[in-house]
Amino acid sequence: MKCRRCKELAQIALPSHHTAFCRDCFERYFIRQIETGIRRQKMFTHEDRILCALSGGKDSLALMWVLSHLGYDVTGLHVDLGIEGSSPMARGQVEAFCQDHDLKLVVVETAPKGLGIPEVYKALKRPICPVCGKIKRYYFNKTALEGGYTALTTGHNLDDEVARLFANTLRWDQSYLSDQGPALPAEAGFAAKVKPLYRVTEFETAAFCFLKKIPHVKAPCPYSKGASFTSHKALWATLEEKSPGSKIAFYDGFLERGRPAFAALEPGHGTKLSPCRTCGYPTSVEWCGVCRLKRQVAGLPPEAAEAEE
Ligand code: SF4
Ligand SMILES: [Zn+2]
Ligand SMILES: [Zn+2]
Repeated sequence: MKCRRCKELAQIALPSHHTAFCRDCFERYFIRQIETGIRRQKMFTHEDRILCALSGGKDSLALMWVLSHLGYDVTGLHVDLGIEGSSPMARGQVEAFCQDHDLKLVVVETAPKGLGIPEVYKALKRPICPVCGKIKRYYFNKTALEGGYTALTTGHNLDDEVARLFANTLRWDQSYLSDQGPALPAEAGFAAKVKPLYRVTEFETAAFCFLKKIPHVKAPCPYSKGASFTSHKALWATLEEKSPGSKIAFYDGFLERGRPAFAALEPGHGTKLSPCRTCGYPTSVEWCGVCRLKRQVAGLPPEAAEAEE
């Protein structure tokens, strides 16, 4: 098969785009997809200060590489979750990447704050991934706001976005369907959140890291059995194989037609939020979920949360 662009021998087939590329043209295509996403969704400009959440996995490292390659003012953020074996590996990968590419990096450790994932798991004894996600989002947002960053990027790719949208569609979750997407603007207490990889698949970021020789964490987190959307992703892999282009069509269709239709059903959507009495994070109750969680993990009664910090 020949490369669509230069007619040399193709190395990477992309059935969903009915095409194949050689190595150089694939890299160019991958970067273009990200630029298109940033432009279409008006994510940020070269004037913005961008904080890029880095897990140590292929998606976030590929994103950081591309953003710095495109000349954006980008700083990495790694949240060290204190998981024995897995966290030191992830952190080491992120630190080495940033050092090798001369990129700025901020590291936040959750264990000294009483929120190491093993401790949280012991205290809650229930699937940990949703809670871990909440902790990470909290520190992403806090670090972005406190550091004066104007956009927070995460490495969610098309497969992640489609699986999440699908799950919320199955539940007809009107609130999610009315305001979610790859670019959420800043609002009181929340930094702008963007997902510049929403037009590329997991396969494509893996291929990009392989071609650019970007080492990344491959071993799954020991808690990942509870990771969400695995079965939905498998379902979509089958659909995509039978009907290439389904994923992007489903997601683009949602952004163009689904989301506006749901938004019209929910004028002035959302619950009224006010600052957490302990940390100031926006919350619908007196104390935010993370402050309540900290006390729960420490075995303290919830009422006295305001005495903390
Ligand atoms: S797999 Fe679950 S526990 Fe592990 S890092 Fe991801 S969200 Fe956290
Ligand atoms: Zn080519
Ligand atoms: Zn709080």
